[in-house]
Amino acid sequence: MKKPKLVVANWKMNLSVHQASLLVNKLDKKVQPHRSVEVVLAPSYLCLQPLSHEIDRRKFRLAAQDGYPIDGGAYTGAISFNQLRDLVHYAIIGHSERRRYFNEGLELVRDKMASAVRNNILPILCVGETWEERNLKETKIVLHDQVITALSNLTSEDMQDMVIAYEPVWAIGGHDPAKPEDIARAVEWIRYQVKDLYGQKAADNVRILYGGSDEPEFVSSIMEVDGIDGLLVGHASLDSQQFADIIEGVYLSALGRGEG
Ligand code: PEP
Repeated sequence: MKKPKLVVANWKMNLSVHQASLLVNKLDKKVQPHRSVEVVLAPSYLCLQPLSHEIDRRKFRLAAQDGYPIDGGAYTGAISFNQLRDLVHYAIIGHSERRRYFNEGLELVRDKMASAVRNNILPILCVGETWEERNLKETKIVLHDQVITALSNLTSEDMQDMVIAYEPVWAIGGHDPAKPEDIARAVEWIRYQVKDLYGQKAADNVRILYGGSDEPEFVSSIMEVDGIDGLLVGHASLDSQQFADIIEGVYLSALGRGEG
């Protein structure tokens, strides 16, 4: 059976606990549960515990935006995947903002992936090139290094529920997503890396999302790209109507492909 499409809301460092709760409330009224679309909310750490009691689990699952790879100990300020394991289904790992502002390198991302998996949390690995790298025609090598390193301490069994988000850094936070042909090329290349490492079954199983200026008007053209299994949504997920429209757009495109 085809896996459901996946739509992930990355709320980043926005919303107080109260505001997050209000947004969930609004979303709950606007979002219909669809078997063909899985919706995941990634609020700040602070909101995970309260929201875990508030969400309707037929409609929403929770994700952490990050996690620390060591299970516990003297690491002031950190929150481990081990501490998150009963709270979240997924964790975003290797987001470009973590790589850029917190200097997260390839090896740390690799260790986070392994730790999340060890703690029964499904990783949503983010990969993507910067504007400079794109102009230098380094997209393929960047994606290769990011994917291969991140997955290198996992097994083919761990790949069963793997999610990888292609997020070109230059498209994040704007109103202009990457062109469908760019997305198609990157998705094909990412799947090829997975196949090279873990074989055809793993490559078929991995769900690949697109992230970067996902807004409702772009959903149908992005979802038409071959091999795209969903969206990782930043700013538009902070607006209940926009996010509900995006979810509905993903549902309709799945329906149009006979996967609804
Ligand atoms: C993101 O940062 O993951 C993202 C997709 O952001 P935005 O939708 O705001 O471009």
